[in-house]
Amino acid sequence: MMGTPRLVEIRQNVLKQNDLLARNLRQRFNDAGVMVISLVSSPGAGKTLFLEKTLAALSSQYRVAALVGDLATENDASRLARTQAPVRQITTGTVCHLEAAMVERALEGWNLSDLDFLFVENVGNLVCPSSYDLGENLRLVLMSVTEGEDKPLKYPTIFNSADIAVITKIDLASAVEFDLQAALCSIESVRPGMHVIEVSAKTGDGMEAWYQTLRPHQIKKREITEQAK
Ligand code: MG
Ligand code: ZN
Repeated sequence: MMGTPRLVEIRQNVLKQNDLLARNLRQRFNDAGVMVISLVSSPGAGKTLFLEKTLAALSSQYRVAALVGDLATENDASRLARTQAPVRQITTGTVCHLEAAMVERALEGWNLSDLDFLFVENVGNLVCPSSYDLGENLRLVLMSVTEGEDKPLKYPTIFNSADIAVITKIDLASAVEFDLQAALCSIESVRPGMHVIEVSAKTGDGMEAWYQTLRPHQIKKREITEQAK
């Protein structure tokens, strides 16, 4: 009988290992009552600005922190650190995605119970992050108006692995003749019923709607905490 090709076998083992770690992480996050939100997109879609504004807006009411994945630089972490939220960089070197083990390592020394929200910015890449569960509660896939309306059709797997699609840089929509209806149709055809938010982190348009989507999670958490008393 023919066996599984060796490379495929190694890859399956890596993914299985990742899933186990991610499951443990998710349990830890739940036990600590922290909601974990990951962000994926292609490079340059505006993840870091979106995160910067989100951290700044939520930090008046909630305890927030972030992990930021990048191939080589620590620029994003320094930028986000200006929001005063605890931020840690995960430099992946040659690895083009985050893995659960990297998240686990980056969390060492942090008391998760001290947090309400933890954001995890993945490396800019729409391919392999879809295969790696990071233990997050919510995954956002961002696409900017400058990338074209058919992004979801080209990368259906990442849209299927995410919970919310965020269309970014809508302040540039008319300048680049972005067709919102066409983009919504592409998302809908790949992932029917997917929740879509349109934002400009620069002007603040749509950001309030995004913060509102996080509220039910916080309310639920408060109820659980109350019951435990
Ligand atoms: Mg970034
Ligand atoms: Zn990768």
